[in-house]
Amino acid sequence: MHYIGAHVSAAGGVDQAVKRAVDIGANAFALFTKNQRQWKAKPLDDSVIEAFKKACHHHGFTPEQILPHDSYLINLGHPEAEGLAKSRAAFLDEMQRCEQLGLTLLNFHPGSHLRKISESECLKIIAESINEALAQTRGVTAVIENTAGQGSNLGYRFEQLAEIIEQVDDKSRVGVCIDTCHAFAGGYDLRTEASTQAVLDELDTVVGIEYLRGMHLNDAKSTLDSRVDRHHSLGQGNIGSAAFKTIMQDPRIGGIPMILETIEPAIWDQEIAWLRAQAGTAGD
Ligand SMILES: [Zn+2]
Ligand SMILES: [Zn+2]
Repeated sequence: MHYIGAHVSAAGGVDQAVKRAVDIGANAFALFTKNQRQWKAKPLDDSVIEAFKKACHHHGFTPEQILPHDSYLINLGHPEAEGLAKSRAAFLDEMQRCEQLGLTLLNFHPGSHLRKISESECLKIIAESINEALAQTRGVTAVIENTAGQGSNLGYRFEQLAEIIEQVDDKSRVGVCIDTCHAFAGGYDLRTEASTQAVLDELDTVVGIEYLRGMHLNDAKSTLDSRVDRHHSLGQGNIGSAAFKTIMQDPRIGGIPMILETIEPAIWDQEIAWLRAQAGTAGD
């Protein structure tokens, strides 16, 4: 089964995101469970938690169709003690919000070394951060997103994702989310069916496709290996439509949220319908 949707707004409360997903014909969605540009948020109200669960149940969304995203401020690989402690506390709060909402996935960008420590030191700190959060929560899987490798962000090579996973104690609660725009900007050519297939094969070899717990389907304004994160609408950027068709037809990919973070919310309904048409009966 293909779960296709978009990162919808949770303005007015997380329960409001559900209706926004339904309105665009989605059977998956992503959301922030708090303001993504602030460190602190007030705890979720019981009434909002109930309304969210009720709306999900009513519209047939199970936790495996929902991919919450954490705050952009969090850096789980922070090279300095104070910044790291602040990030770890905020990440734990994000995990606990997911627990409260009955959600089982939390998508996050791994972290940045800020040019103060080595890549491998940073990856080790990220893995320790994940271990700490998993030890203090239950039922939520840490889903590491590949990045465009902008600045000192790590996670733009599949090898880096694998290196983190290798150091996570509970392998049953760690996974990856592959963002196509980030992969392309990170140096993975997705411009043809054959090259996309090769990238998926590489993901399987380096990380293991069984760790794939979500995807972000975005075309790119940025160019191949540019290490610049600029999304575009499907088929309108430097990736083009072949990659998305190939991904939708790959028999290895299914049962995970496939989320648009493309730049024109007004055409998300059309993009979702197009993706669904590419999938045909594959993965059903
Ligand atoms: Zn993304
Ligand atoms: Zn991005």
